[in-house]
Amino acid sequence: MADPALTPMMQQYREMKARDPDALLLFRMGDFYEMFGEDAVRASALLGIAVTTRDKDKEGAVPMAGFPHQALETYLAKIVQAGQRAAVCDQVEDARQAKGLVKRDVVRVVSPGTLTDEALLDPRSANYLAAVVESGSKMGLAWVELSTGRFSLTSLLRTELADELARLNPAETLASELALDAPWLRALRSQQQHVVTTRPSWDFQVEQARKTLFEQFGVATVEGFGVDDRSPEIQAAGALVAYLRETQKSSLGHIARLTPYRRADVLALDETTRRSLELTRTLREGKREGSLLQVIDHTATPMGARLLGEYVASPLTSPELIEARLAAVEELYQDSGLRADLRHALGEAYDLERLAARAATGRATPRDLGALARTLALLPKVKARLAARRSRRLAELEEALELCPEVRAAIESALVDDPPLSIKEGGLIRPGCHEELDRLRSASKDGKAWIARYQSEQIRRTGIGGLKVGFNNVFGYYIEISHAQAQRGEVPADYIRKQTVKNAERYYTPELKEFENEVRNADERANALEYELFTTLRDRVSADAPRLIQAGSAMAQVDVLSALAELAAKQGYCRPEVVAEPVFEVEAGRHPVLDAILPRGEFVPNDTVLTPDRGDLLLITGPNMAGKSTYIRQVALMAILAQIGSFVPAKRARIGVVDRLFARVGATDELSRGQSTFMVEMTETANILNNATRQSLVILDEIGRGTSTFDGVSLAWAITEHLHDSVGCRALFATHYHELVELEKTKPRLRNANVAVGESQGEIVFLHRIAPGGADQSYGIHVARLAGVPSPVLDRAREILAFLEKQHGPDPGLPEPEGPIRRKVKSGRALQTSLFAALPDPLLTELRNVDLDALPPDQALDLLRRLRELAG
Ligand code: ADP
Repeated sequence: MADPALTPMMQQYREMKARDPDALLLFRMGDFYEMFGEDAVRASALLGIAVTTRDKDKEGAVPMAGFPHQALETYLAKIVQAGQRAAVCDQVEDARQAKGLVKRDVVRVVSPGTLTDEALLDPRSANYLAAVVESGSKMGLAWVELSTGRFSLTSLLRTELADELARLNPAETLASELALDAPWLRALRSQQQHVVTTRPSWDFQVEQARKTLFEQFGVATVEGFGVDDRSPEIQAAGALVAYLRETQKSSLGHIARLTPYRRADVLALDETTRRSLELTRTLREGKREGSLLQVIDHTATPMGARLLGEYVASPLTSPELIEARLAAVEELYQDSGLRADLRHALGEAYDLERLAARAATGRATPRDLGALARTLALLPKVKARLAARRSRRLAELEEALELCPEVRAAIESALVDDPPLSIKEGGLIRPGCHEELDRLRSASKDGKAWIARYQSEQIRRTGIGGLKVGFNNVFGYYIEISHAQAQRGEVPADYIRKQTVKNAERYYTPELKEFENEVRNADERANALEYELFTTLRDRVSADAPRLIQAGSAMAQVDVLSALAELAAKQGYCRPEVVAEPVFEVEAGRHPVLDAILPRGEFVPNDTVLTPDRGDLLLITGPNMAGKSTYIRQVALMAILAQIGSFVPAKRARIGVVDRLFARVGATDELSRGQSTFMVEMTETANILNNATRQSLVILDEIGRGTSTFDGVSLAWAITEHLHDSVGCRALFATHYHELVELEKTKPRLRNANVAVGESQGEIVFLHRIAPGGADQSYGIHVARLAGVPSPVLDRAREILAFLEKQHGPDPGLPEPEGPIRRKVKSGRALQTSLFAALPDPLLTELRNVDLDALPPDQALDLLRRLRELAG
């Protein structure tokens, strides 16, 4: 394969590149990482670095681009943020000792889903690597977080895949190269933010996958983890492990358990619902700031923040499990001293899970191990404070909180108190810990005393007061004398000139040279020994990684429960009663985000009652900006809060668990996806109608808005009927189709509500108070009056309104498909003109309505005057 035209180094490069052609190969050359050929061009666009060539004049010269090695982390971050993979190829032998070409090897492959470095990860969010495989009628899905060792898997239907991936939001997803044409994979790849990495189909084959997993977990079957040995998720899990092994080139000892995941245990939330409710990101800007997660997050550790993110992404459905969390939150809520102590201790903790995982993947720095030991040192206090707690959950956590004292002792006895970041430059290991190291160090330290002595001796000998003995990395030790003094001819004959610098001459003596060899050797040997001692220590910690991660996970749970208690105390939340029946009864409920953002007391609380006997479908009419969507979202968010085991922003709450929550609020950003708003809206509505159950909760905002008025009303009408008659779930609709108000007459479980609007000093005031009954239709005319629209126009508007109400105001059973207006018009615009055309003359209308027999003479005169006015 060797190409004689290539230099040996380029040959080496080619070999490395061929191992993983898709990854950007960062090839270490001296102090730089270089990329060649197509990689250089790709890197230049991605990283904004210049492309050059080595041999500018030669035709077909290979393009190259590079950056200084110190900037590696920064550029790696850019590469993974762009969804790409990079292979870091280092010099693996000392260039000074190399015979011929220095040996190089790929020491790590960094991809979006396999990050462990602190600098590349967001400490407060999980970073998943997922794998998907199609097997018969099922899909296998597995996901792992390399930086904490969590590994889960499940099988699902093809239609369920998108929702699960929306829940996990993986940084990278693996799929078999054979699946490239599968529609689900094409759909995944078309999503911009979704990074898909294709892998050999071999990795996904059942037998191969089983073998990989058995090796990883040291078992002969995975059934012990509660996973069927031949299920499709095994194939996905096997492919994950194979990829990690290939890219990490390190032990994966911290991945010690497989956790099967059951969809039924988790409240189902599709992608639109997650986005509509702004659970972890805002709808418009996609920021964490302003999301539910951000406002409720009072965690003290990054581990806790990640776990809370997981809670919000996957609320529970079992009332027992929810109650268990709630009981723990309540205990911490009531005992503010306990809460403060725990939060204080946790506030000092570092990210135990990720530190342990870094130890296990051989990436922990001395500083990491120092942080790990300091975190372990906090555990006894946390554990002691958790002792003898009432709630079962806290008692369990107390037990799960392993102190790992041996790991702590091993680190504390070996590592200095404030260890450096680098492992290669010494200064990590505590004195008195290793005899040989102490000896080498004292040789080096004695050396320093020797220099001081040597310097004063030389000053005495030469009589040159400014003489200095110094050191630099290139020239080693030297004696420095200023030019002026040197020129006076006072330099002894045994000084050998070494270097001339700006104002001085530098010399050495045979004595100094000999000393240098000794000291340098001792230093180098000491550093090498420290390095060795450190890696032994890291291996020691790595062996306990699963236990450390378990302790970290227990800390995270304590943190989340205390944070939820803190939130409840700060924001005045109440403990919800979580029940199995499909009810939702809340007194004085608030929107958790607005409540936290608005000045205290400004948010107007509202009650919500949805029960099978008092009605569980609420239709809210009212003008724009009245607070309809806020109200319906607040109901959905309270259900989510309750089901993650949090208190809720209300005075009192009784909430029946929801199995699936559907939210369709606002269609702001759909157009950019190239589908019409209305098509998107209907696809999502179809999803709701097909999947909602009696136990679900549906919130819909302005459904049918994307089409003409009559289409819209008819669809909204039929959808409401279907949900009422066939699904029978709890639902809240916000609409400004007043026609729907009529449904209340025939649908026993549907109730109307409106948002109260008042007037103060000639201005409309939104009271944000939900009141029973449909909204006042003439609100728009009301606003027009306040705005100074002339009264004849307003009067005319009222007449038209009255006519419209009469003409097609929905009787029960309407809208009538063949009504007169329907026949004439196709779009809302056409509707306007045709309606006006169809209107009778108000003069005639008024005349016809006059009851001459019952008209007293004075009123007759009034009437005449009005008719005269109308006639203009
Ligand atoms: P709609 O859906 O009726 O158009 P929104 O729900 O979007 O109205 O509410 C409009 C604005 O009114 C919100 O941005 C918020 O600032 C304010 N608002 C809504 N509900 C309340 C409330 N209960 N208390 C205080 N302010 C509210």
